[in-house]
Amino acid sequence: MKKINLLGYSLSDLEQLMLDMGEKKFRGGQLFKWLYRDHQTEFELMTDFSKELRQKLDEKFEFKSMQLLHSQTSEDGTIKFLFNLDDNLPVETVLIPDFGSERKTVCISSQVGCAVNCGFCATGKMGFSRDLTAGEIIGQLVYLREEFGLDAFSNVVMMGMGEPLANFDNVVKAVELMLAPTGMMLSRKKVTISTSGNSPKIKKLADTGLDICLAISLHAATQEKRVKIMPIAETFGIEKLMQAIRYYSEKSRTQVMFEYIIFDNFNDKMEDVHALAKLVRGLPCKINLLAYNPVEGLDFKRPSEEKMNWFGGQLSPRVPVVTVRKSRGRDIDAACGQLAAKQQLGRKLDV
Ligand code: SF4
Repeated sequence: MKKINLLGYSLSDLEQLMLDMGEKKFRGGQLFKWLYRDHQTEFELMTDFSKELRQKLDEKFEFKSMQLLHSQTSEDGTIKFLFNLDDNLPVETVLIPDFGSERKTVCISSQVGCAVNCGFCATGKMGFSRDLTAGEIIGQLVYLREEFGLDAFSNVVMMGMGEPLANFDNVVKAVELMLAPTGMMLSRKKVTISTSGNSPKIKKLADTGLDICLAISLHAATQEKRVKIMPIAETFGIEKLMQAIRYYSEKSRTQVMFEYIIFDNFNDKMEDVHALAKLVRGLPCKINLLAYNPVEGLDFKRPSEEKMNWFGGQLSPRVPVVTVRKSRGRDIDAACGQLAAKQQLGRKLDV
């Protein structure tokens, strides 16, 4: 008989499971701690359960994270993992160490492919296959802790493959597992959801009270330009998007982060600096400027380093916080979706 994988089960799911097995509800809480806090996957070693209960659990259940297909390490220490899901679809996770500090950020995926189809993105070109389950989302973190220990990462960003807010229920369930005080115990300040701008879902996320950090993939500061590179802007215009962001910021009392990828000769002029500064006026926020990482087959070009610095210098006095971020893992296709896109195209990977 195939065992049931408990990966992704919440505290209340496990409490119900114990009740269904004729056990007391609190046993679910004990099992939750073993699995998500202590990363103990051998039921035999769960010493506060009777021998009989351990055997029963072992007969029916397992706790299995992800199956690794490939990993690649960049010259700058960034590691990219490509996992194989049960239905043989590829999904990727990127671990980005920050040298000179304790910070290690893991970028996880929420969908296989993506339906949003941003004009500059490798994942968008793959099309959409399916949502990840809560288990497959949290499984990326469980895998890293099993492999590299409890301090495998310090920060989590949902900025990998997919639009997290399009997979709302599974993403929220996974975030609850990350924040659970008897589970993975991550601080809400260390967990970020990044969205391409689904305004109603941003408000819905604010209403969950999870109060995690919100990042917006903005990339253009006017409706006219945004719609050229992000089709989602046709459905959710920039005005409504900014209203939703202000709602989120007030409700969660957090500083919103804007990601602004600079494409050579598209959104890198003085008029763009002014439009961006005007758009975020009065909002507690941080703007990350990133140079575009070219994707094979797409027309956008990478701006020069001088252009990046010039843009940052012009923007800096006009907005609360600006950082010009270095691209990481360029030698291993670490931009969103590039590795999985290659895998799906059946190309050989240099591992
Ligand atoms: S940038 Fe994000 S939202 Fe846009 S297509 Fe890529 S994965 Fe989807």
